[in-house]
Amino acid sequence: MRIAIGQIMHETNTMFGPPTPVEEFQRQGWDTGTEIFDEDTGVRSYLGGMIDAGERHNVEIVPTFSANAHPSGTIERAAFDTMLNNLLDGIRNAGEIDAVCVSLHGAGSAEGIDDIEGTILQAIREQIGPDKPLIATLDLHCHSTDLMIENATALLTVHEYPHVDSYERGYEAIELAVRTITGTVNPVMHLTRLPMAIAPITSFHGPARKVNERCWEWEEKGLLDVTFVHGYPHTDVPIISASVIAVADGDPEFAKQASEDVANMIWEMREEFRTELPQPAAAITDALTHEGQPVVIAEVSDNPGGGSPGSGTHLLRAMIEANLENAAFGFVYDPETAEQAHDAGVGATIEVSIGGKIDPDHLGEALKAKAYVKAVTDGRYITTSPMGQGGQRDLGKMARLVVGGVDVLVGSESHQTIDTGPFLLHGISVERYKVVGLKSQNHFRAGYEPIAAKIIRTDPPGWTTSNLKQLNYQRISRPIWPLDEGVERG
Ligand SMILES: [Zn+2]
Repeated sequence: MRIAIGQIMHETNTMFGPPTPVEEFQRQGWDTGTEIFDEDTGVRSYLGGMIDAGERHNVEIVPTFSANAHPSGTIERAAFDTMLNNLLDGIRNAGEIDAVCVSLHGAGSAEGIDDIEGTILQAIREQIGPDKPLIATLDLHCHSTDLMIENATALLTVHEYPHVDSYERGYEAIELAVRTITGTVNPVMHLTRLPMAIAPITSFHGPARKVNERCWEWEEKGLLDVTFVHGYPHTDVPIISASVIAVADGDPEFAKQASEDVANMIWEMREEFRTELPQPAAAITDALTHEGQPVVIAEVSDNPGGGSPGSGTHLLRAMIEANLENAAFGFVYDPETAEQAHDAGVGATIEVSIGGKIDPDHLGEALKAKAYVKAVTDGRYITTSPMGQGGQRDLGKMARLVVGGVDVLVGSESHQTIDTGPFLLHGISVERYKVVGLKSQNHFRAGYEPIAAKIIRTDPPGWTTSNLKQLNYQRISRPIWPLDEGVERG
Protein backbone atom coordinates (compact mmCIF):
# COMPACT_ATOMS: atom_id res chain seq x y z
CA MET A 1 0.00 0.00 0.00
CA ARG A 2 1.29 3.47 -0.96
CA ILE A 3 0.00 6.79 0.36
CA ALA A 4 1.18 10.20 -0.84
CA ILE A 5 1.55 12.93 1.80
CA GLY A 6 2.03 16.68 1.48
CA GLN A 7 1.40 20.00 3.15
CA ILE A 8 0.39 23.58 2.43
CA MET A 9 0.06 25.43 5.73
CA HIS A 10 -0.76 29.08 6.26
CA GLU A 11 -3.05 30.99 8.60
CA THR A 12 -3.81 34.15 6.65
CA ASN A 13 -4.69 37.42 8.35
CA THR A 14 -6.17 39.37 5.41
CA MET A 15 -6.75 42.47 7.56
CA PHE A 16 -3.18 43.46 8.27
CA GLY A 17 0.29 43.26 6.85
CA PRO A 18 1.65 43.13 3.31
CA PRO A 19 0.84 40.20 0.98
CA THR A 20 2.90 37.06 1.64
CA PRO A 21 5.20 36.20 -1.27
CA VAL A 22 6.54 32.77 -2.21
CA GLU A 23 9.94 33.76 -0.81
CA GLU A 24 8.52 33.74 2.73
CA PHE A 25 7.47 30.10 2.34
CA GLN A 26 10.79 29.24 0.70
CA ARG A 27 12.64 30.86 3.59
CA GLN A 28 10.57 29.31 6.39
CA GLY A 29 9.43 25.87 5.28
CA TRP A 30 9.82 24.47 1.77
CA ASP A 31 10.52 20.76 1.34
CA THR A 32 10.33 18.53 -1.68
CA GLY A 33 10.24 14.72 -1.68
CA THR A 34 12.38 13.08 0.98
CA GLU A 35 13.34 16.47 2.46
CA ILE A 36 9.98 16.10 4.23
CA PHE A 37 11.32 13.03 6.05
CA ASP A 38 14.42 15.00 7.11
CA GLU A 39 12.24 17.82 8.45
CA ASP A 40 9.41 15.94 10.17
CA THR A 41 10.50 12.44 11.18
CA GLY A 42 10.39 12.24 14.98
CA VAL A 43 8.68 15.64 15.29
CA ARG A 44 5.30 16.00 16.99
CA SER A 45 3.72 17.54 13.91
CA TYR A 46 0.95 16.51 11.49
CA LEU A 47 3.49 15.15 9.00
CA GLY A 48 5.50 13.52 11.81
CA GLY A 49 2.36 11.58 12.78
CA MET A 50 1.73 10.53 9.18
CA ILE A 51 5.31 9.30 8.79
CA ASP A 52 5.17 7.24 12.00
CA ALA A 53 1.77 5.74 11.17
CA GLY A 54 3.09 4.66 7.77
CA GLU A 55 5.95 2.87 9.49
CA ARG A 56 3.59 1.26 12.01
CA HIS A 57 1.15 -0.04 9.36
CA ASN A 58 3.68 -1.05 6.70
CA VAL A 59 2.47 1.65 4.36
CA GLU A 60 4.93 3.13 1.93
CA ILE A 61 4.67 6.88 2.56
CA VAL A 62 5.47 8.89 -0.57
CA PRO A 63 6.49 12.44 0.42
CA THR A 64 5.55 15.01 -2.24
CA PHE A 65 5.74 18.69 -1.32
CA SER A 66 5.46 20.76 1.84
CA ALA A 67 5.27 24.52 2.31
CA ASN A 68 4.50 26.48 5.44
CA ALA A 69 4.97 29.98 6.78
CA HIS A 70 4.05 31.77 9.97
CA PRO A 71 0.71 33.57 9.95
CA SER A 72 0.87 36.74 7.86
CA GLY A 73 -0.96 38.73 5.20
CA THR A 74 -2.83 37.45 2.13
CA ILE A 75 -0.82 34.93 0.10
CA GLU A 76 0.23 36.34 -3.26
CA ARG A 77 -1.67 34.58 -6.02
CA ALA A 78 1.50 33.51 -7.84
CA ALA A 79 2.84 32.01 -4.60
CA PHE A 80 -0.32 30.00 -4.09
CA ASP A 81 -0.34 28.79 -7.70
CA THR A 82 3.30 27.68 -7.38
CA MET A 83 2.64 25.76 -4.15
CA LEU A 84 -0.50 24.08 -5.48
CA ASN A 85 1.28 23.10 -8.70
CA ASN A 86 4.21 21.66 -6.74
CA LEU A 87 1.81 19.61 -4.60
CA LEU A 88 -0.15 18.37 -7.61
CA ASP A 89 3.07 17.54 -9.50
CA GLY A 90 4.38 15.67 -6.47
CA ILE A 91 1.21 13.59 -6.26
CA ARG A 92 1.25 12.97 -10.03
CA ASN A 93 4.88 11.85 -9.90
CA ALA A 94 4.30 9.63 -6.86
CA GLY A 95 3.45 6.71 -9.15
CA GLU A 96 0.67 4.27 -8.27
CA ILE A 97 -0.86 5.40 -4.99
CA ASP A 98 -3.85 4.20 -2.94
CA ALA A 99 -4.67 7.44 -1.08
CA VAL A 100 -3.54 11.01 -0.40
CA CYS A 101 -3.18 12.58 3.05
CA VAL A 102 -2.49 16.30 3.25
CA SER A 103 -1.75 18.61 6.15
CA LEU A 104 -3.58 21.91 5.68
CA HIS A 105 -4.24 24.77 8.06
CA GLY A 106 -7.73 25.63 6.94
CA ALA A 107 -7.58 29.41 7.29
CA GLY A 108 -5.44 30.17 4.25
CA SER A 109 -6.48 32.87 1.76
CA ALA A 110 -4.73 33.97 -1.42
CA GLU A 111 -5.37 36.95 -3.68
CA GLY A 112 -8.75 36.14 -5.28
CA ILE A 113 -9.24 32.90 -3.29
CA ASP A 114 -10.79 33.11 0.18
CA ASP A 115 -10.74 29.34 0.71
CA ILE A 116 -7.42 27.95 -0.45
CA GLU A 117 -8.00 24.62 1.29
CA GLY A 118 -11.25 23.97 -0.62
CA THR A 119 -9.38 24.89 -3.79
CA ILE A 120 -6.47 22.54 -2.94
CA LEU A 121 -8.76 19.62 -2.09
CA GLN A 122 -10.84 20.17 -5.24
CA ALA A 123 -7.71 20.21 -7.41
CA ILE A 124 -6.33 17.03 -5.83
CA ARG A 125 -9.73 15.35 -6.17
CA GLU A 126 -9.89 16.22 -9.87
CA GLN A 127 -6.42 14.79 -10.37
CA ILE A 128 -6.80 11.51 -8.44
CA GLY A 129 -10.41 10.81 -9.41
CA PRO A 130 -13.51 10.26 -7.27
CA ASP A 131 -12.64 6.96 -5.59
CA LYS A 132 -9.28 7.27 -3.81
CA PRO A 133 -9.37 8.39 -0.18
CA LEU A 134 -8.29 12.02 0.25
CA ILE A 135 -7.88 12.90 3.92
CA ALA A 136 -6.83 16.28 5.27
CA THR A 137 -5.73 17.28 8.74
CA LEU A 138 -6.68 20.79 9.85
CA ASP A 139 -6.04 23.33 12.58
CA LEU A 140 -9.18 24.05 14.64
CA HIS A 141 -8.72 27.74 13.73
CA CYS A 142 -9.88 26.92 10.24
CA HIS A 143 -12.71 27.98 7.99
CA SER A 144 -14.85 24.96 7.16
CA THR A 145 -16.54 25.12 3.78
CA ASP A 146 -18.77 22.95 1.64
CA LEU A 147 -16.02 22.84 -0.99
CA MET A 148 -13.70 21.19 1.54
CA ILE A 149 -16.36 18.72 2.65
CA GLU A 150 -17.35 17.81 -0.92
CA ASN A 151 -13.84 17.01 -2.04
CA ALA A 152 -12.30 15.33 1.01
CA THR A 153 -13.08 11.80 2.16
CA ALA A 154 -12.53 12.99 5.72
CA LEU A 155 -11.31 16.10 7.51
CA LEU A 156 -9.52 15.53 10.81
CA THR A 157 -9.12 18.68 12.88
CA VAL A 158 -7.08 19.02 16.06
CA HIS A 159 -9.23 18.93 19.19
CA GLU A 160 -6.86 20.77 21.47
CA TYR A 161 -5.78 24.38 21.71
CA PRO A 162 -2.76 24.52 22.34
CA HIS A 163 -2.54 22.11 19.41
CA VAL A 164 -0.78 19.34 21.30
CA ASP A 165 -2.55 16.68 19.21
CA SER A 166 -1.44 17.57 15.68
CA TYR A 167 0.79 14.48 15.62
CA GLU A 168 -2.20 12.31 16.62
CA ARG A 169 -4.37 13.78 13.84
CA GLY A 170 -1.64 13.05 11.28
CA TYR A 171 -1.30 9.52 12.62
CA GLU A 172 -5.08 8.99 12.49
CA ALA A 173 -5.24 10.33 8.92
CA ILE A 174 -3.01 7.50 7.71
CA GLU A 175 -4.87 4.91 9.80
CA LEU A 176 -8.23 6.12 8.48
CA ALA A 177 -6.88 6.04 4.92
CA VAL A 178 -5.72 2.44 5.41
CA ARG A 179 -9.08 1.37 6.83
CA THR A 180 -10.87 3.12 3.98
CA ILE A 181 -8.65 1.52 1.32
CA THR A 182 -9.26 -1.96 2.77
CA GLY A 183 -13.01 -1.33 2.97
CA THR A 184 -13.07 -1.60 6.76
CA VAL A 185 -14.76 1.81 7.05
CA ASN A 186 -16.60 4.19 4.76
CA PRO A 187 -16.19 7.75 6.14
CA VAL A 188 -19.06 10.21 5.61
CA MET A 189 -19.10 13.75 6.97
CA HIS A 190 -21.55 16.32 8.22
CA LEU A 191 -20.69 19.99 8.72
CA THR A 192 -22.77 22.34 10.86
CA ARG A 193 -21.77 26.00 10.70
CA LEU A 194 -22.67 28.60 13.31
CA PRO A 195 -22.87 32.40 12.85
CA MET A 196 -20.20 32.92 15.51
CA ALA A 197 -16.76 34.51 15.60
CA ILE A 198 -14.98 33.12 18.65
CA ALA A 199 -11.95 34.94 20.05
CA PRO A 200 -9.10 32.47 20.69
CA ILE A 201 -9.87 30.36 23.76
CA THR A 202 -8.06 27.34 25.14
CA SER A 203 -9.54 23.83 25.12
CA PHE A 204 -7.59 22.88 28.26
CA HIS A 205 -10.24 24.42 30.58
CA GLY A 206 -13.56 26.24 30.45
CA PRO A 207 -16.29 26.18 27.80
CA ALA A 208 -14.23 24.70 24.95
CA ARG A 209 -13.27 21.83 27.24
CA LYS A 210 -16.95 21.15 27.98
CA VAL A 211 -17.72 21.05 24.27
CA ASN A 212 -14.80 18.69 23.64
CA GLU A 213 -16.16 16.32 26.26
CA ARG A 214 -19.47 16.21 24.37
CA CYS A 215 -17.55 15.48 21.13
CA TRP A 216 -15.73 12.60 22.80
CA GLU A 217 -19.03 11.19 24.10
CA TRP A 218 -20.21 10.99 20.49
CA GLU A 219 -16.97 9.31 19.47
CA GLU A 220 -17.54 6.74 22.19
CA LYS A 221 -20.96 6.08 20.63
CA GLY A 222 -19.20 5.09 17.40
CA LEU A 223 -18.43 8.25 15.43
CA LEU A 224 -15.01 8.15 13.76
CA ASP A 225 -14.37 11.78 14.69
CA VAL A 226 -16.33 14.74 16.06
CA THR A 227 -14.55 18.09 16.26
CA PHE A 228 -15.42 21.52 17.55
CA VAL A 229 -13.93 23.89 14.98
CA HIS A 230 -13.33 27.23 16.73
CA GLY A 231 -12.74 29.11 13.47
CA TYR A 232 -10.36 32.00 12.86
CA PRO A 233 -11.65 35.53 13.50
CA HIS A 234 -8.49 37.57 12.81
CA THR A 235 -9.10 37.85 9.12
CA ASP A 236 -11.83 39.28 6.92
CA VAL A 237 -13.40 36.69 4.64
CA PRO A 238 -17.09 35.78 4.31
CA ILE A 239 -16.48 32.18 5.46
CA ILE A 240 -15.57 32.95 9.10
CA SER A 241 -17.59 30.77 11.46
CA ALA A 242 -17.45 28.33 14.32
CA SER A 243 -18.56 24.87 13.24
CA VAL A 244 -18.69 21.19 14.01
CA ILE A 245 -17.44 18.44 11.71
CA ALA A 246 -18.57 14.88 12.40
CA VAL A 247 -17.23 11.85 10.56
CA ALA A 248 -19.31 8.65 10.70
CA ASP A 249 -18.81 5.20 9.25
CA GLY A 250 -21.26 4.95 6.34
CA ASP A 251 -24.15 6.62 8.17
CA PRO A 252 -24.72 10.27 7.18
CA GLU A 253 -27.68 10.59 9.56
CA PHE A 254 -25.51 9.58 12.51
CA ALA A 255 -22.90 12.19 11.48
CA LYS A 256 -25.63 14.81 11.19
CA GLN A 257 -27.12 13.93 14.59
CA ALA A 258 -23.75 14.31 16.34
CA SER A 259 -22.75 17.45 14.50
CA GLU A 260 -26.10 19.18 15.15
CA ASP A 261 -26.09 18.18 18.80
CA VAL A 262 -22.64 19.62 19.48
CA ALA A 263 -23.45 22.74 17.44
CA ASN A 264 -26.62 23.26 19.49
CA MET A 265 -24.58 22.99 22.66
CA ILE A 266 -22.05 25.61 21.47
CA TRP A 267 -24.82 27.97 20.41
CA GLU A 268 -26.69 27.63 23.70
CA MET A 269 -23.57 28.39 25.75
CA ARG A 270 -22.21 31.11 23.42
CA GLU A 271 -22.07 33.79 26.14
CA GLU A 272 -19.42 31.67 27.88
CA PHE A 273 -17.18 32.29 24.87
CA ARG A 274 -17.32 36.07 25.26
CA THR A 275 -13.81 37.16 26.21
CA GLU A 276 -12.99 40.27 28.22
CA LEU A 277 -9.40 40.65 29.32
CA PRO A 278 -7.56 43.27 31.40
CA GLN A 279 -5.23 45.96 30.07
CA PRO A 280 -1.49 45.52 30.87
CA ALA A 281 -1.33 47.76 33.95
CA ALA A 282 -4.23 45.91 35.58
CA ALA A 283 -2.72 42.56 34.60
CA ILE A 284 0.57 43.53 36.30
CA THR A 285 -1.21 44.71 39.46
CA ASP A 286 -3.05 41.40 39.52
CA ALA A 287 0.18 39.44 38.93
CA LEU A 288 1.81 40.96 42.00
CA THR A 289 -1.04 39.80 44.25
CA HIS A 290 -0.36 36.12 43.54
CA GLU A 291 1.85 33.97 45.67
CA GLY A 292 4.66 32.08 43.99
CA GLN A 293 6.38 32.53 40.66
CA PRO A 294 6.52 32.88 37.78
CA VAL A 295 3.30 34.70 37.03
CA VAL A 296 3.05 34.59 33.24
CA ILE A 297 1.35 37.48 31.44
CA ALA A 298 0.50 36.80 27.81
CA GLU A 299 -0.05 39.76 25.47
CA VAL A 300 -2.65 38.04 23.30
CA SER A 301 -3.40 41.00 21.04
CA ASP A 302 0.04 41.12 19.40
CA ASN A 303 0.38 37.42 18.74
CA PRO A 304 2.58 36.47 15.78
CA GLY A 305 0.82 33.10 15.93
CA GLY A 306 -2.30 34.87 14.64
CA GLY A 307 -0.79 37.30 12.19
CA SER A 308 0.13 40.26 14.41
CA PRO A 309 3.82 41.16 14.04
CA GLY A 310 4.94 40.82 17.66
CA SER A 311 6.66 44.20 17.55
CA GLY A 312 4.20 45.94 19.89
CA THR A 313 5.30 47.54 23.15
CA HIS A 314 2.17 47.86 25.29
CA LEU A 315 2.90 45.12 27.83
CA LEU A 316 6.66 45.69 27.88
CA ARG A 317 6.19 49.42 28.48
CA ALA A 318 3.74 48.73 31.33
CA MET A 319 6.22 46.31 32.93
CA ILE A 320 9.01 48.88 32.80
CA GLU A 321 6.75 51.72 33.99
CA ALA A 322 5.64 49.54 36.92
CA ASN A 323 9.34 49.45 37.95
CA LEU A 324 9.20 45.67 38.13
CA GLU A 325 12.28 43.96 39.35
CA ASN A 326 12.88 40.32 38.75
CA ALA A 327 10.87 40.38 35.54
CA ALA A 328 11.56 39.11 32.02
CA PHE A 329 9.90 39.70 28.66
CA GLY A 330 10.32 37.35 25.70
CA PHE A 331 10.18 38.64 23.10
CA VAL A 332 9.73 41.69 20.89
CA TYR A 333 10.15 41.19 17.15
CA ASP A 334 12.78 43.79 16.32
CA PRO A 335 15.56 42.71 13.93
CA GLU A 336 17.15 46.20 13.98
CA THR A 337 17.64 46.25 17.74
CA ALA A 338 18.88 42.64 17.69
CA GLU A 339 21.44 43.63 15.05
CA GLN A 340 22.45 46.70 17.07
CA ALA A 341 23.05 44.52 20.14
CA HIS A 342 25.06 42.00 18.13
CA ASP A 343 27.20 44.82 16.73
CA ALA A 344 27.77 46.37 20.16
CA GLY A 345 28.53 43.02 21.77
CA VAL A 346 28.03 41.54 25.21
CA GLY A 347 28.93 43.96 28.00
CA ALA A 348 28.05 47.10 26.05
CA THR A 349 25.49 49.64 27.19
CA ILE A 350 23.53 51.06 24.26
CA GLU A 351 20.70 53.49 23.54
CA VAL A 352 17.89 51.39 22.11
CA SER A 353 14.53 52.00 20.57
CA ILE A 354 12.71 48.69 21.08
CA GLY A 355 9.74 47.78 18.86
CA GLY A 356 7.34 50.37 17.54
CA LYS A 357 8.53 49.95 13.95
CA ILE A 358 5.28 48.50 12.55
CA ASP A 359 1.95 50.30 12.99
CA PRO A 360 2.99 52.13 16.20
CA ASP A 361 -0.35 53.97 16.40
CA HIS A 362 -1.96 50.65 17.13
CA LEU A 363 0.76 48.42 18.57
CA GLY A 364 2.52 51.04 20.67
CA GLU A 365 5.40 53.48 20.20
CA ALA A 366 9.03 52.37 20.34
CA LEU A 367 10.41 52.04 23.84
CA LYS A 368 13.47 54.28 24.10
CA ALA A 369 15.86 53.28 26.86
CA LYS A 370 19.44 52.62 27.90
CA ALA A 371 20.04 48.89 27.72
CA TYR A 372 22.85 46.61 28.86
CA VAL A 373 23.66 43.80 26.41
CA LYS A 374 23.72 40.67 28.55
CA ALA A 375 23.75 38.00 25.83
CA VAL A 376 23.46 37.58 22.08
CA THR A 377 22.54 34.36 20.23
CA ASP A 378 21.54 32.98 16.83
CA GLY A 379 17.96 32.33 18.04
CA ARG A 380 18.07 28.61 17.20
CA TYR A 381 16.78 25.95 19.57
CA ILE A 382 14.82 22.69 19.62
CA THR A 383 11.20 22.91 20.76
CA THR A 384 10.50 21.31 24.15
CA SER A 385 6.76 22.07 24.40
CA PRO A 386 4.48 19.08 23.82
CA MET A 387 3.31 21.11 20.85
CA GLY A 388 5.72 20.50 18.00
CA GLN A 389 8.27 18.86 20.31
CA GLY A 390 11.56 18.10 18.61
CA GLY A 391 11.12 20.67 15.87
CA GLN A 392 13.82 23.21 15.09
CA ARG A 393 12.95 26.85 15.84
CA ASP A 394 14.87 29.67 14.24
CA LEU A 395 14.12 33.11 15.67
CA GLY A 396 17.07 34.76 13.93
CA LYS A 397 19.56 37.01 15.69
CA MET A 398 18.43 37.57 19.27
CA ALA A 399 19.65 39.56 22.24
CA ARG A 400 19.02 39.71 25.97
CA LEU A 401 18.91 43.34 27.01
CA VAL A 402 18.60 44.59 30.57
CA VAL A 403 16.32 47.64 30.80
CA GLY A 404 15.77 48.78 34.38
CA GLY A 405 14.71 45.68 36.31
CA VAL A 406 13.46 43.82 33.25
CA ASP A 407 15.35 41.32 31.09
CA VAL A 408 14.05 41.98 27.59
CA LEU A 409 14.56 39.62 24.66
CA VAL A 410 14.47 40.90 21.10
CA GLY A 411 14.32 38.57 18.08
CA SER A 412 14.51 38.71 14.32
CA GLU A 413 11.58 36.47 13.33
CA SER A 414 7.95 37.29 13.92
CA HIS A 415 7.08 34.30 16.09
CA GLN A 416 5.05 33.61 19.21
CA THR A 417 6.67 32.19 22.34
CA ILE A 418 5.35 28.68 22.85
CA ASP A 419 7.84 27.29 25.33
CA THR A 420 10.67 28.40 27.61
CA GLY A 421 13.23 27.88 24.82
CA PRO A 422 13.81 31.56 23.94
CA PHE A 423 14.49 32.36 27.61
CA LEU A 424 16.74 29.36 28.26
CA LEU A 425 18.74 30.15 25.15
CA HIS A 426 19.72 33.44 26.82
CA GLY A 427 20.45 32.03 30.26
CA ILE A 428 17.06 32.88 31.75
CA SER A 429 15.36 30.32 33.95
CA VAL A 430 11.81 31.67 34.13
CA GLU A 431 11.21 29.89 37.43
CA ARG A 432 13.54 32.44 39.05
CA TYR A 433 11.43 35.40 37.94
CA LYS A 434 8.30 36.85 39.52
CA VAL A 435 6.71 38.18 36.33
CA VAL A 436 7.29 36.79 32.84
CA GLY A 437 5.73 38.56 29.85
CA LEU A 438 5.35 36.99 26.43
CA LYS A 439 3.35 37.21 23.20
CA SER A 440 1.01 34.30 22.45
CA GLN A 441 -2.74 33.64 22.64
CA ASN A 442 -2.87 30.18 24.20
CA HIS A 443 -0.20 27.97 22.63
CA PHE A 444 2.22 29.04 25.39
CA ARG A 445 0.03 27.16 27.87
CA ALA A 446 1.42 23.80 26.70
CA GLY A 447 4.89 24.85 27.82
CA TYR A 448 4.02 27.16 30.73
CA GLU A 449 1.01 25.71 32.58
CA PRO A 450 3.17 23.04 34.25
CA ILE A 451 5.54 25.67 35.71
CA ALA A 452 3.51 28.89 36.10
CA ALA A 453 2.14 29.95 39.49
CA LYS A 454 -0.53 31.89 37.62
CA ILE A 455 -1.37 32.73 34.02
CA ILE A 456 -2.94 36.09 33.09
CA ARG A 457 -3.89 37.16 29.57
CA THR A 458 -3.87 40.84 28.63
CA ASP A 459 -5.45 42.51 25.61
CA PRO A 460 -4.11 45.98 24.77
CA PRO A 461 -4.72 47.26 21.22
CA GLY A 462 -3.33 44.85 18.61
CA TRP A 463 -4.12 42.98 15.42
CA THR A 464 -5.15 39.79 17.26
CA THR A 465 -7.26 41.42 19.94
CA SER A 466 -9.95 39.34 21.63
CA ASN A 467 -12.18 42.40 21.50
CA LEU A 468 -13.40 41.62 17.98
CA LYS A 469 -15.52 44.78 17.87
CA GLN A 470 -12.26 46.73 17.52
CA LEU A 471 -11.57 45.11 14.16
CA ASN A 472 -12.70 46.84 11.00
CA TYR A 473 -14.42 43.94 9.24
CA GLN A 474 -15.70 44.67 5.73
CA ARG A 475 -16.39 41.30 4.14
CA ILE A 476 -17.49 38.82 6.80
CA SER A 477 -21.04 37.48 6.69
CA ARG A 478 -23.40 39.42 8.98
CA PRO A 479 -25.12 39.16 11.28
CA ILE A 480 -22.59 37.27 13.40
CA TRP A 481 -22.27 36.80 17.13
CA PRO A 482 -20.84 38.64 19.14
CA LEU A 483 -20.49 41.58 16.74
CA ASP A 484 -24.23 41.93 16.12
CA GLU A 485 -27.21 41.87 18.47
CA GLY A 486 -30.03 39.37 18.30
CA VAL A 487 -28.27 36.96 15.92
CA GLU A 488 -30.44 33.96 14.93
CA ARG A 489 -28.90 30.58 14.13
CA GLY A 490 -30.65 30.45 10.75
ZN1 LIG B 1 -4.60 27.15 15.56
